[in-house]
Amino acid sequence: MGSPRRILIVGNWKMNGSRQSRQELDAMAAGLDPAFSEKADMLVCPPAVLLAGFTENATGPIRFGGQDCHFNESGAHTGDISPEMLREAGAVAVILGHSERRADHGEGDAVVKAKVKSAWRAGLLPIVCVGETLAERDANEASAVVARQVRQSIPRGAEGGNLVVAYEPIWAIGTGRIPTPEDVAQVHNTIRNVLNERFGEEGEKIRILYGGSVKPDNAKTLLAIPNVDGALVGGASLKANDFLGIAHAVL
Ligand code: PEP
Repeated sequence: MGSPRRILIVGNWKMNGSRQSRQELDAMAAGLDPAFSEKADMLVCPPAVLLAGFTENATGPIRFGGQDCHFNESGAHTGDISPEMLREAGAVAVILGHSERRADHGEGDAVVKAKVKSAWRAGLLPIVCVGETLAERDANEASAVVARQVRQSIPRGAEGGNLVVAYEPIWAIGTGRIPTPEDVAQVHNTIRNVLNERFGEEGEKIRILYGGSVKPDNAKTLLAIPNVDGALVGGASLKANDFLGIAHAVL
């Protein structure tokens, strides 16, 4: 059975793309089946410097997000970008706590939690990433690790309309390896239980995306798993054909 929640397909471009990538975006917008927007939303999260150029005069179904933000609104934080700045550049969402941020910049759950609050302050939809390492998966700790991250990274006040969680097993990101559907179902079920336990009825409305080597040929299987409400896509979101192949798996 498909998701009872509105599906969300998110492209995370990471540190890729240029102003010319506008052509790729135009191809995505033009190629998207109109039936897609009846049941799903599409977000593209390019590097922050490209956001304003992409959102200016943007028409069509694609909306935009940032890949990270600082938790302050402004101040002496060289190199950082506030959620208010992302919003001004036309973003409607922001990815937070991606494993590459957690690994490369030492971000822990407490920092991610502060960033979620700052995204709410700025009117952005936070997409909070959680996921286990290969060692944790091999030690049968995946569900426990992810449950802890969800409890500690998400502040009080989360609702269906103001939060998205993305389960991204770290060992599946950019590797071409994905967990079995049973393993995905188990972790998504764990996340759903934690959300329900913490946020009651609202927990049931919060979307949980799967991310990690989602491709056109596995998207249908992944999106059919209970409690999988969409996908967070890295590499395959850079090319219109691949991203459209994933998006059209919702039809
Ligand atoms: C990601 O980094 O969010 C991701 C899912 O990457 P990929 O799709 O390339 O595995």
